[in-house]
Amino acid sequence: MGNYDVTIIGAGLAGLQCARLLARKGVRVLLVDRKSTLDQKIHTTGIFVRRTLLDFDIPDDCLGPPIKHVTLYSPALRSMEFVSEHDEFRVGRMGQLYQRYLQQCLIAGVQWLPETSYLGHVSAGGKLAVRLSSGDVTTRYLIGADGARSRVARDLKLDLNEEWIVGVESVYEGAVIDGPPRLLCFLDPELAPGYIAWIAHDGEETHVGVGGYSARFDPPAALEAFRSRVSHIIDLSNAKQIERRAGYIPVGGVLRNIANTNGLLLGDAAGAVSPLTAGGLDPCMRLSAFAAQVVGEYLSSGNPQALSVYSGELFRARFASRLWARRVASTFGQRHLVEFGCAVLRFPVLCKIARHVFFGRGSFPDPDSYKSADTVYSERSAINGSTRVARRAGM
Ligand SMILES: Cc1cc2nc3c(=O)[nH]c(=O)nc-3n(C[C@H](O)[C@H](O)[C@H](O)COP(=O)(O)OP(=O)(O)OC[C@H]3O[C@@H](n4cnc5c(N)ncnc54)[C@H](O)[C@@H]3O)c2cc1C
Repeated sequence: MGNYDVTIIGAGLAGLQCARLLARKGVRVLLVDRKSTLDQKIHTTGIFVRRTLLDFDIPDDCLGPPIKHVTLYSPALRSMEFVSEHDEFRVGRMGQLYQRYLQQCLIAGVQWLPETSYLGHVSAGGKLAVRLSSGDVTTRYLIGADGARSRVARDLKLDLNEEWIVGVESVYEGAVIDGPPRLLCFLDPELAPGYIAWIAHDGEETHVGVGGYSARFDPPAALEAFRSRVSHIIDLSNAKQIERRAGYIPVGGVLRNIANTNGLLLGDAAGAVSPLTAGGLDPCMRLSAFAAQVVGEYLSSGNPQALSVYSGELFRARFASRLWARRVASTFGQRHLVEFGCAVLRFPVLCKIARHVFFGRGSFPDPDSYKSADTVYSERSAINGSTRVARRAGM
């Protein structure tokens, strides 16, 4: 039976980011995933926003060419163009990126267990015995990075995602679209109820997908219908489909109770996805980096107070407007209302808001709160006390 400081279940972006950062601090980390290789069964489009690209070390060769243009289509396919002066998005080559981060984990000393499922855990003598399909291990702390429908969250008695949409997409090489690389977003309450249909075209790869509330549509049929509806916009006649991707996206906002003295949650398991745009990659990077700080501190001090700053309540306040926008998006089910909404977006004030949704830089609590957590931690180490931490974090 192996013995670890931290066992992380799930080697998606969240688990990989946290594993490599913890291992670089000298923490003994076990990383577990039921997949045999990480470049299989990818479920994300992989669009990284500018803020993530600026703040994190995503290797350039794991990213497609930059995108500055967004076209928004109404249900009647009336279009509106948005162009940024910056390179706003890059589509990750996710299989390659996961493998690269895994390599970095291994170099930092992470133990890697592929093709292994998490089955449960029990507390025993101040540690946890974790039951895996390949046998049991002992760990001081358990991290659930096991996605939107996290089993670890349930076993740790932490909060669970309750609201999600589903997305399905095809990835092509050789698709032809006029104009520069761009994102095309389609508002259509029948093909994508409560979300959007999309084409992400960076000149090398093209992702064509639909997303929405599963009770209100049939995703594969909607994708098929969407493809024929946009056949005059994208020519797929000589394109090769290289992948099909699909998955759940939690959109209820970051969960409140995401940590206790046995473990914590990251990424989709923590509900850390923008309720409005459904972007989860930036939150994966940011929340996992923060978790690595908090867990490192907790393991070295043994003081449960170190975990108090890792609370969804602290992040949730920043999501208020996006949660409100999600409520609106989920109730707008009629084509003519959405068409009307798109028409009024041409008014300058609303156009500015739309630009902000596409090009704004605030998908997850911004670097200020993140930095203040950093500051809290360095001050905390200096004074080696916990009361001040809680006070500064507003607890
Ligand atoms: C179709 C689609 C498109 C998307 N596009 C974008 C986008 O363009 N940009 C963006 O920012 N966000 C996007 N998102 C959201 C984003 O992909 C997710 O928020 C992000 O990938 C979540 O990463 P994660 O590491 O938390 O979870 P995951 O990537 O889901 O990783 C969880 C891992 O846990 C493993 N696992 C689960 N259960 C067990 C178990 N019991 N035992 C062992 N292993 C287990 C799984 O195999 C998996 O590898 C999209 C989501 C979907 C579904």
